[in-house]
Amino acid sequence: MAIFDTHAHYMAEDFCGELIPLLEKMPEMGVEKIMAVGYSLESSREELELARRFPYIMAAAGIHPENCMGLPEDWLTQLEELLAEPEIKALGEIGLDYHYEGFDKDLQAEVFEQQLILAQKLSMPVIIHSRDACEDTMKLLRKYRPRGVVHCFSGSAETAKDVVKLGMYVGFTGVLTFKNSKKAWAACEAVPVDRLLLETDCPYMAPVPHRGEKCHSGMIKYTAAKMAEIKGVSTEEMIEICRENGERLFLGGSE
Ligand SMILES: [Zn+2]
Repeated sequence: MAIFDTHAHYMAEDFCGELIPLLEKMPEMGVEKIMAVGYSLESSREELELARRFPYIMAAAGIHPENCMGLPEDWLTQLEELLAEPEIKALGEIGLDYHYEGFDKDLQAEVFEQQLILAQKLSMPVIIHSRDACEDTMKLLRKYRPRGVVHCFSGSAETAKDVVKLGMYVGFTGVLTFKNSKKAWAACEAVPVDRLLLETDCPYMAPVPHRGEKCHSGMIKYTAAKMAEIKGVSTEEMIEICRENGERLFLGGSE
């Protein structure tokens, strides 16, 4: 097995002193590559440190929509400096999140657009977060046409097809293994295998039979098994295909 977990958050504070021993065990668990994704300047720096320490970890840096408020004036310059580090392979996660009240939609859109423009300038793939904001997210993706992935996909099969039409990838988490995830199954079914990515979004979204536990990249095999069932291939093949897809997107394999 050579798993590529294309979306993980490994913050020391979430793993109570056990993060480093856990990450050291990843190769034993069949995990070959991990994309450690930042959601603020601070978390992006923390993920960069992990990528420097572990050869199988790469990092993404970006400002998540929930962290748009209170950014320093020079945030974009700081972000661009981070993105110049060789261990950082993507700009993310970025996007729109209308789930909770109290987050300024205009500010979210502005920070998202600035980062899409930066991705264009740097020719970097993006990792998109979109929650309850499908229409506005798609509008901006159509406008800027980035290379990248819509992660933890929660939209309809129709939207999944639209994402693929834009040449982008669609990432699925442990949500695929939950009962009543019909919408996610339909979306997964609608995406061609060469556009699918496997991800944990850990420490959240642990797949069944670990639902509710703290998630880590070693649990991704359960998500892979469900995805494989939907696509009618073996779990091994699914893991292999998704790893190749991730390498193509983030490590510059041929499209
Ligand atoms: Zn995430």
